[in-house]
Amino acid sequence: MSVRNLWLLLAMPLFLACSGQKSPKTDDVAKLNQLAAEYVQLGLGIGQYDPDFVDAYYGPDSLKPTGPKQPTFPKDTLLVQVHHLLGQLKPYTTAETPDSLRTRAHWISQQLVAFGRRIKIISGEYASFDEESKDLFGVVAPHFPEGTFPGIVKQLDSLLLGSGTVQERYQKLASSFYLPKTKLDTVFKTAVAEARRRTLQHFQLPAQESFVIEYVTNKPWSGYNWYKGYQQSVIQVNTDLPKSINDAILLACHEGYPGHHVYNALLEKNLYQDQGGIEISLYPLFSPQSFIAEGSANYGVSVAFPPAEHQRYAREVLLPLAGLDTTHLSLYYKASALMGKLNYVRNEVGRKLLAGTITQAQAAQQLVAEGLYEKASAEKSVDFIQKYRSYVINYNYGQDLVKQYIETQGGTASATDKRWQLFGELLSNQVTPTDLLQKTK
Ligand SMILES: [Zn+2]
Repeated sequence: MSVRNLWLLLAMPLFLACSGQKSPKTDDVAKLNQLAAEYVQLGLGIGQYDPDFVDAYYGPDSLKPTGPKQPTFPKDTLLVQVHHLLGQLKPYTTAETPDSLRTRAHWISQQLVAFGRRIKIISGEYASFDEESKDLFGVVAPHFPEGTFPGIVKQLDSLLLGSGTVQERYQKLASSFYLPKTKLDTVFKTAVAEARRRTLQHFQLPAQESFVIEYVTNKPWSGYNWYKGYQQSVIQVNTDLPKSINDAILLACHEGYPGHHVYNALLEKNLYQDQGGIEISLYPLFSPQSFIAEGSANYGVSVAFPPAEHQRYAREVLLPLAGLDTTHLSLYYKASALMGKLNYVRNEVGRKLLAGTITQAQAAQQLVAEGLYEKASAEKSVDFIQKYRSYVINYNYGQDLVKQYIETQGGTASATDKRWQLFGELLSNQVTPTDLLQKTK
């Protein structure tokens, strides 16, 4: 099948949902549109009090708050509004016949559960890490038995060359693939262009899509996509810590193609512009949508650059461009794959840090000892957990669930076109983390 026809493919499930079953009644559509607008208004209202709440909004100005915010955070009023809206959505979520309204209502309701939890967090009322992530992101990340991570560290220990601790040897190897500051922009833009080229072989994106790149400092994250609407993003790359050759490809895919920029652009085009789903115009950061966003952005790296291809591209294109030696590149990739498995250490540290059973200093030490973080990066990561809390599960568990979801449906590494097709459908529809869980059972 011609991959450029994906546009049609993406639209098909929605079309079938509307035409294959009973069409929703006009009154029901109007009522749900009204509830969707109230959901957006409520989210924008909460955003007046929490600067991190609204990650993107490109809907009409008429839904933005008009008056000044109240002197104290109106927790109870906002919670009542959340529950009221959830109640009004119930007839749609419990409808026996699946149709586009049930899909929308189901998605909005799960987002509203997250609103409720975030309202409590803003008020200083905290639940456990797992309870929090269940409400905010729709899932609880797995717990790992004792010995899981030391087992991986042991494998790294036998793989890495030289003398010193396993951290020291890994850091020494990784640092030989750090990009010189003067080359960062060229290498990153080259990786972005290649990620875009690969994505456009499979997806047709709106012609005006583009983004600008900025380099920033003093942030708890490594990169950020600020989606502006009309298929435009601002991508910020944080240069506080050195960036490796892997980071260049990771950020190009994760923030750009086929990650956040593409996800936001496809949702906006398919669901908001073409179908008028107003709820899509608001992207609340602490919501199930972020689980899909981060999981797909991370998984998208291996869709655009399967492992062998990733390494070939680094060796033949990016390393020469950066003026870096390719010696030990294969070893670096093997070690990086094992390091990827240690990513879940951050969830375990987050669980304890949020429960108050360890201090920030102990959290950083644990990231170094068990996750093999470099000290400065461990401290940055603790800052991230303090600010974004259980959001950390979206990166590792999100990636794993998206991978399982795509592969369970036949999008395996050997079925490239099928994988891109399923991935495109995920990025173009209101799929929730609960949907991922149901498909991967
Ligand atoms: Zn991200």
